[in-house]
Amino acid sequence: MDNLITGSETNIEHLRSSRRFRFINYDVTNYIDLNEDLDLILHFASPASPIDYLEMPIQTLKVGSLGTHKALGLAKAKGARFLLASTSEVYGDPLQHPQKETYWGNVNPTGYRGVYDEAKRFAEAMTMAYHRFHGLETRIVRIFNTYGTRMRLKDGRALPTFFRQALRNEPITVFGDGSQTRSFTYVDDLVEGIYRLAESSEAGPVNIGNPEEITIRDFAKEIIEITGSNSELVFKDLPADDPQIRQPDISKARRILNWEPKTSRREGLLKTLEYFKHQVNISG
Ligand code: UDP
Repeated sequence: MDNLITGSETNIEHLRSSRRFRFINYDVTNYIDLNEDLDLILHFASPASPIDYLEMPIQTLKVGSLGTHKALGLAKAKGARFLLASTSEVYGDPLQHPQKETYWGNVNPTGYRGVYDEAKRFAEAMTMAYHRFHGLETRIVRIFNTYGTRMRLKDGRALPTFFRQALRNEPITVFGDGSQTRSFTYVDDLVEGIYRLAESSEAGPVNIGNPEEITIRDFAKEIIEITGSNSELVFKDLPADDPQIRQPDISKARRILNWEPKTSRREGLLKTLEYFKHQVNISG
């Protein structure tokens, strides 16, 4: 179920012929009426790129709040297990490093990123309330920066932007001085972690991410090297409230899910390179 405001039907083309798959074009901020039984609801609906939530602040707030409420209501009605896709953004611009699940975060509620951060924080609170008050089986995954095929070339996030710019030999736009850090997770590792969490009995939040941390400046250079580009770095203004550091502490996931990422950043970027080359070619 998706209203496709940031997604695309071509991403599910390969699933269309399966009788075990059905797509419903729908905005989950409205009441969800489904006849069939459900075992598990995975609530992932939300814009996830800073540019997207800057352009769609109300939708971002609504899907995190109203959408989570509707999805939880559906889970309760069906007696289904519920998994919320939360985010490392609940930690805001963190004052603890690396970030453990016990850290409460440092978020600016009225800043531009607040629409996403606070919606996800509300979503976590709502999920725990349904768990405690209604006895619903719930799971919360805090997802750190993730990449892989099927990302939009122009979603505004660093990774697709750098690939696009590098493959066209255009200047790479580094925001600020590029000393801020991120830790990038290859999508297959994330999926495995989420699957294990869904199967587990853990109701508290669990970080899923790759702890390999890198500055954005070095990341830009890495993409230049991997693509064999002759792009140069150009430095632009740092967006407001851009987190300075980010690295998941995954000791909880290691302990209770026996999970850790298997794909190094270099390996994952090489796996994703062909996809971005193709996207750049077809976009002209
Ligand atoms: N960034 C950048 N150039 C870009 C896009 C992003 O330097 O063209 C920076 C951004 O300011 C942030 C980091 O890269 O510090 C990761 O940004 P992204 O939008 O990928 O995700 P975030 O982790 O901030 O949600």
